[in-house]
Amino acid sequence: MTKLIKGKELSEKIVENISEELKNYTKKPGLTVIIVGDNPASRVYVNKKKRTAENAGFNSVVIELPEDVTREELEKHIDELNKDEAVDGILVQLPLPKHINTYDILERILPEKDVDGFHPENVGKLVIGLKPYAVSCTPYGIIRLLEENNIEIEGRHAVIIGRSNIVGKPMASLLLNRNATVTVCHSKTASLRRVCMQADILVAAVGREKFVKRDWVKPGAVVIDVGINRTEEGKIVGDVDFEEVSGKAEYITPVPGGVGPMTIAMLLSNTLELFKLHNDL
Ligand code: NAD
Repeated sequence: MTKLIKGKELSEKIVENISEELKNYTKKPGLTVIIVGDNPASRVYVNKKKRTAENAGFNSVVIELPEDVTREELEKHIDELNKDEAVDGILVQLPLPKHINTYDILERILPEKDVDGFHPENVGKLVIGLKPYAVSCTPYGIIRLLEENNIEIEGRHAVIIGRSNIVGKPMASLLLNRNATVTVCHSKTASLRRVCMQADILVAAVGREKFVKRDWVKPGAVVIDVGINRTEEGKIVGDVDFEEVSGKAEYITPVPGGVGPMTIAMLLSNTLELFKLHNDL
């Protein structure tokens, strides 16, 4: 029987615990999200982050900037937030418009306020096995899901499909740091199905609807579906063909209700950690 890894339940527990912990403090942790332009998906994510943060007891602010904002103006906002003692975490919602270099902006955020863990200092620390100020929320949430379900990582072969800086690469570092044998696949990988069939832990972060099929999965594998894809009928589905793969895998994350909710829970967890660091708590 395939077991469901219930991210929604765990994320609610994490947020509830954070909310309880905040009652001990007189100050509220501050999370500021900057959104540039009108990308509807980004807007949905930002609203969700703000709502969840506020409900949990954070001071959550969204700065909305127009699509044609200049790099200088955006940097000015970040510089002000870097100096503002009420702000513990700064998140710039991606993607940014093409005229702005994402890495220039991510590097402008102080590493100790980089709640997404995307600053090169935090990424570098993660890669060499030091403790970053924050770890990229989605892969960090996946580690929490594996740990919570007592899924062994050490010594196992983890195959990740996708090498993005947001998911695939930090996922590889987190698994490697926990002594997994890690293979990272991407759009140029040869014999992808054969590589995936060797996975004890298979992480799909591709962005293609129902991409991973039943015959890609080894019996008893742990399948983590990061994908969020909207079908023509408007339904949200993952990168894994859930119907085909469940029954063969030992564990699987559903979409929705798997990895997605963990991302926001880890964002709040990262903000809380930065708040404690800034306030010597
Ligand atoms: P991305 O587009 O930056 O990266 C996709 C990766 O997939 C690339 O590395 C590419 O090489 C690889 N790829 C594309 N086509 C491939 C193919 N045919 N074979 C093998 N590899 C292929 O995407 P991303 O930001 O990493 O996101 C991936 C998916 O995860 C998307 O559906 C996104 O919406 C979702 N996502 C979900 C969360 C969450 O909270 N659940 C967070 C971030 C991203």
